[in-house]
Amino acid sequence: MEIVCTRPSCPRPENHFADLDQGNTLKTVQQKFCTACGMPLILSGRYLTEKLLGKGGFGAAYLARDRYTPTMRSCVVKLFQPAGDLNPSQLQLAQSLFEREAAVLEDLGNRHRQIPDLYAFFPLIVPGSSPQVQEEYFYLVQEYIDGEDLEQTLARQGAFPQSDVLSILVDMLQVLSFVHENGTIHRDIKPSNIMRHRNGTLYLLDFGAVKQVTAASSTGGKSTGIYSMGFAPPEQMSGSTVYPSTDLYALAVTCITLLTGKDTGELYDSYNNTWNWQPHIQPHTQINSAIAAILDRMLCATPNQRYDSAEAVLAALKTAVQSKPSTPATAAPAPTAPPPPAGKRRAIVPEHIARWPSVLGRTISMRASVRVTPPSEVVVGAGSLHAARARSADTTRNLRDQAIVVAP
Ligand SMILES: [Zn+2]
Repeated sequence: MEIVCTRPSCPRPENHFADLDQGNTLKTVQQKFCTACGMPLILSGRYLTEKLLGKGGFGAAYLARDRYTPTMRSCVVKLFQPAGDLNPSQLQLAQSLFEREAAVLEDLGNRHRQIPDLYAFFPLIVPGSSPQVQEEYFYLVQEYIDGEDLEQTLARQGAFPQSDVLSILVDMLQVLSFVHENGTIHRDIKPSNIMRHRNGTLYLLDFGAVKQVTAASSTGGKSTGIYSMGFAPPEQMSGSTVYPSTDLYALAVTCITLLTGKDTGELYDSYNNTWNWQPHIQPHTQINSAIAAILDRMLCATPNQRYDSAEAVLAALKTAVQSKPSTPATAAPAPTAPPPPAGKRRAIVPEHIARWPSVLGRTISMRASVRVTPPSEVVVGAGSLHAARARSADTTRNLRDQAIVVAP
């Protein structure tokens, strides 16, 4: 059996153990150590990392097996290695906040089927490469979603039809409504963080742990951290407070990316500082103008110009879906995009979308605006403003293109 060493500096992480090919041995063996660096390989005594899924500035993600389940179920092991030179108190703070964040993930994941379950979270302290030096790592183990993320689907099939994007939009709004109701802002909505399981269920991935720990200001309570270039709204990129509408903005960017098949850079008019996506719609794709207007309102640069909750967007969508085909876009101001050509203004409301009202009309119970409490922020590094694009990935390659901002 192959076991991959998770020590980031390991010179030869691949380990083969012929004696572990037997299932019984696998369940009873005490521990195995990396032949190259001595790192314990059976994490927490039960997780066997079989394959590196992706690596980045934060650590790495592995496909693993849980040897203490009857089926040796697959799971994802994420290794967090706080970057930068941390003093002991900073490291301790990072650890306590990792644990708190993991508790949030456990809560959300166990209560919502479209959020991966958290299975385990634990630190590991191991001897370092030189004597008297110890290295500390944090591991998070979560449900493995066997499927394809929307970025992969986009690359494979090209632009999505409106009906698909609408389904995804409604699905993710419902998940976000739950997330926001629980006082959490996802902060990294993008196609690669939305995964479609083989059974068709959409999952929202990559909750908080990374971005809420690699954060920023020690005094201002500002919520900067990791975000994805092109998808994050201005308030997030400037390190200001984030809101539920911060996620709505990124979800809308996700939608227009799927609708057009274009990169965010092509859809943003930097000269006018607005999104200008409708001209990029494929000729055969038709967009309901009211739905386009809703997306445009979600894309407003200023948070207070957007919808303030996922529920509000769902309500607007319900109205849009019920509107007559010739209804012009009036559901929201459309400050960014010019009206589409006349040929594209015909509303297309797929039959299955038209049946949404029962879903869309559910009781609106959440607070109008949920401010994220910045408790989940921690300083992991002090110094000058630093931005770096971290090419990395987890099971779904969903940590790519993230900019890590460490504020002064
Ligand atoms: Zn090793």
